[in-house]
Amino acid sequence: MINVAIDGPAGAGKSTVAKAAAKKLGYIYVDTGALYRTVALAAQRKGILGKTDEIIEMLSDIKVELKYIDGVQSVLLNGEDVSSFIRTPEISMGASAVSAIPKVREFLLDLQRDIAKNNNVIMDGRDIATVVLPNADVKIFLFASPECRAKRRYDELIAKGESVMFEDVLADVNQRDYQDSHREIAPLKPSEESVLLDTSELNLEESIAAIIKIVKENV
Ligand code: C5P
Repeated sequence: MINVAIDGPAGAGKSTVAKAAAKKLGYIYVDTGALYRTVALAAQRKGILGKTDEIIEMLSDIKVELKYIDGVQSVLLNGEDVSSFIRTPEISMGASAVSAIPKVREFLLDLQRDIAKNNNVIMDGRDIATVVLPNADVKIFLFASPECRAKRRYDELIAKGESVMFEDVLADVNQRDYQDSHREIAPLKPSEESVLLDTSELNLEESIAAIIKIVKENV
């Protein structure tokens, strides 16, 4: 199986770019952020976001699964498709918080590895090259400037009809970057073998082409 790991900070365009590249290559696109978001949603529903011990306890009561239909990923929480509930700013911040809990990362590890063992995948996350798939065939670290990433996320939220201020989105991006790169466990950083891809100056098509080129050069 061919495993492509794509890591990088929030809003670098990873999901859009990786999804399109996977489609062109005929691989499954695995969005691992959805898993952390789903744990955050479960915690939010129980009113225990921010309470580490209670979140750890909750893990034995929840089942998180990924499902693929025509290459489109859905995430299930105890059998319920929660894909449309996990994209709010509150869940973004909650996901960043729960992802710093080692037991949460451990809880989601086998699920990610099993998918990669049985399929050609492009897996998108923060620690795919360093922790989840250290033997991935291709490792890419995709990034862009914070302003550029905030602008993309802002445009996405506005297009969805949410009323947000650019400054707040930028502050969130900076805060999540800080949290994700300073946590003790699986901090966001390129692996030594990762190819660095800066998409600040690239449009979507150029970014997709760049990924495909890197994959083709390495498999
Ligand atoms: O990629 P996305 O923005 O959906 O990820 C939400 C949060 O989940 C990130 O801010 C990060 O803290 C966490 N995450 C992680 N490891 C991954 C994927 C996401 O820690 N592999």
